[in-house]
Amino acid sequence: MIEKSLNNEKFINIEENLKVIKENISNAAISSGRKPEDVTFMAVTKTVDPVYINHAINNGINLIGENKVQELLSKKDDLKLDNCDVHLIGHLQSNKVKQIINHVSMIQSVDSVKIAKEISKQAVKNNLDMKILLEINIGNEDSKTGFKYDEVLESCYEISQLPNVIVNGLMCIPPFSANKSETFKFFTNMSNLFIDMRDKKIDNIDMNVLSMGMSGDYEEAIKSGSNLVRVGSSIFGARIYN
Ligand SMILES: *Cc1c(COP(=O)(O)O)cnc(C)c1O
Repeated sequence: MIEKSLNNEKFINIEENLKVIKENISNAAISSGRKPEDVTFMAVTKTVDPVYINHAINNGINLIGENKVQELLSKKDDLKLDNCDVHLIGHLQSNKVKQIINHVSMIQSVDSVKIAKEISKQAVKNNLDMKILLEINIGNEDSKTGFKYDEVLESCYEISQLPNVIVNGLMCIPPFSANKSETFKFFTNMSNLFIDMRDKKIDNIDMNVLSMGMSGDYEEAIKSGSNLVRVGSSIFGARIYN
């Protein structure tokens, strides 16, 4: 644990960053004809020490996202999660599903029918319903997993048949290399896909979350229809990977 007194500046930065981001989220929501509270603000906490995560929670954060099962499990006991939900947002391997199933309220990074089947199996075993988002490989990148834009509807019908998993919406990470106008196009495509799928009113699915937008582009994402933004480095500073 890092002593608070030694890192006072970092605590103050987190508070100030949260204020600025909340304000930006509100403004982007209002400018796209929605209410500020219609957009969920997730703090992405990968590589961040629990002492800082708890500081963000004390300052109003009620949803955090972690990418890795092992990292989440190793930090969880040190987190003050009484009023804070945890989502998994990173690629999940089949053999890790049973480790995570009791520790998150949503898995945003479901990138294949295979992993959805394993989540269903473990959810049944643990007698719970797991909410999931389908991750779309919106830029068709070879380096990324995820459903293809044209194939996700068919996969969604298949997943909707599985017990104890509930598709709650879609998630994406646009290509890192995309410029602003390309990113805006990817977000718009996502938004259209989300609306099309929602309007199909598929049995057993409840499309209400469109998770897109990170530190560099969350305002554009909201203006394109996102209702859940995942912000890390703009809150906690640049990540330091060991
Ligand atoms: C790391 C990460 C984020 C946050 O990225 P920042 O640019 O630091 O805001 C959001 N979503 C996913 C899936 C991530 O892995």
